[in-house]
Amino acid sequence: MLKIFLKKNEDKRIRGGHLWVFSNEIEKIFANPENGDLVEVFDSKEQFLGLGFYNKNSLIAVRLISKSRVENSSDLFRDRIMCAYDLRKNFYPHRESFRLVFSESDFLPGLIIDKYNNSFVLQVNSFGIQRNIDLIIEILKSDLSAQNIFTKNDFYLRKLEGLPEEDNVYFGSISKEVIDDGSIKYKIDFNQSQKTGFYFDQSDNRFFIEKIVKDKTVADIFSNSGGFGLHALKAGAKSVDFVDSSVREIERVKENLLLNNLDADAKYFVKDVFDFLEEAIALNKRYDVVILDPPAFAKNKKSLPAAEKGYEKLNKLAFQVVNDGGYLATSSCSYHLIKENFFNFLNRAASKSSSEIQLIHFGGASLDHPQLSGMPETSYLKFAVFKVFNR
Ligand code: SAH
Repeated sequence: MLKIFLKKNEDKRIRGGHLWVFSNEIEKIFANPENGDLVEVFDSKEQFLGLGFYNKNSLIAVRLISKSRVENSSDLFRDRIMCAYDLRKNFYPHRESFRLVFSESDFLPGLIIDKYNNSFVLQVNSFGIQRNIDLIIEILKSDLSAQNIFTKNDFYLRKLEGLPEEDNVYFGSISKEVIDDGSIKYKIDFNQSQKTGFYFDQSDNRFFIEKIVKDKTVADIFSNSGGFGLHALKAGAKSVDFVDSSVREIERVKENLLLNNLDADAKYFVKDVFDFLEEAIALNKRYDVVILDPPAFAKNKKSLPAAEKGYEKLNKLAFQVVNDGGYLATSSCSYHLIKENFFNFLNRAASKSSSEIQLIHFGGASLDHPQLSGMPETSYLKFAVFKVFNR
């Protein structure tokens, strides 16, 4: 067996629930593991810590997959995937579409699987998973009736692992799907969509919005395929303005409105959000509920200060278009941004727009995105709902 021994004290983070060993934490390596090989990891006193995928290309030298020894890796993958499936089915018993596997959080480091009915869209972001992909495909086919299995890879992460920047169709073809989130249906065209096709992480938050929109005017800003706004219309919103810079996504919103028989008062704006908000302020346009769901402004730690300035500006503009006594629901999916700093720039933004704010709700990603409390990298989405006083 291939073995890796850590330097003194470098076991602490692992014992605290973290699943990565960084290359500078390794004291010695026995035998000569290849990228993607399973290695046994020990502390400096030769106590067994776990089993993980080795990668000499990456700063993350080992990604732990198990804290105990494993007889058969096929059984391990099956157990992990079916355990993840059971968790989703517990919370979403009537849904066929959700994030089935969320990487480290489901103890499958570097593997994301989004399930859209019987189409399974994968992101393969670690060498170890790539080496075992045939096994994983077989499990999806035999145990979960997969008809189509293909990747929509994150090339940035693959590059860090030294994996080729490519996508694959492993089974069937790149399909189109109509999915149901338990209330709203969405058309998904994988050839045109962003990420794996749908933002499942905001699913539960879209349901939260239903509590505050009845008979209200709503702006769904960074709407993508319209998730928040569609839920708002279903819950009786008076009107929804959908704003996104992508023509394709706004076309998708229109299709989804028809698909759900929601013929309420909807308007569409293919526009940069900053321009949209500045024009709204100039025209004195106000909404009862404003929803902001921007893409990640900070891709890495270095870009965080600039990203925080961007978020502050965005939220400052957004506070100004909320009616007195209305709500701002605001998100950030930059994992480098910690909760405390999220609130810091929101408070600054509110102050600059002379808004007083009351935090009504704070949440994260949906229940199909579990987190490891010992591994901050697994929590990224922040979702805050404020009541806004613009007196
Ligand atoms: N709220 C959506 C997900 C938003 S994803 C949902 O519930 O599914 C972020 C969206 O912001 C993408 O659709 C992208 O096209 C859009 N976007 C990114 N930058 C933008 C900008 N500057 N102005 C307008 N839209 C932008």
